[in-house]
Amino acid sequence: MDCLFCKIIAGEIPSKKVYEDEKILAFHDINPAAPVHFLIVPKIHIDSLDNINDGDNADYACYILKKIPELAASQNIAGGYRVITNIGEDGGQTVKHLHFHVLGGKKLDIKLG
Ligand code: AMP
Ligand code: ZN
Repeated sequence: MDCLFCKIIAGEIPSKKVYEDEKILAFHDINPAAPVHFLIVPKIHIDSLDNINDGDNADYACYILKKIPELAASQNIAGGYRVITNIGEDGGQTVKHLHFHVLGGKKLDIKLG
């Protein structure tokens, strides 16, 4: 499968790692939209949150959500932060491998939609 984030997970494309374990990888976004901007991806290919079901892949999504406070704390964004996952064309998803953006390090603009 020709997937950018699968290649990053496989180490075929370099990334600036924030955290890694057997289930997930977190790395800095190449084009940060805030002083702190990193992405968290499951190490299995899931297209987007739209493809989460009651099977294994839901466990990956829950695992990521539970890890976010720890990873945010490691990046010193105690003042607050934002978590975003884009889904599909209209949702603005450009990489079709489930990922959660974590943004912080400044007072973020409120712009939804
Ligand atoms: P999305 O638009 O939600 O699919 O987000 C994809 C994100 O991946 C964007 O914020 C990009 O800046 C980021 N991105 C693209 N290529 C890379 C890369 N090689 N390393 C890190 N982040 C990347
Ligand atoms: Zn993938």
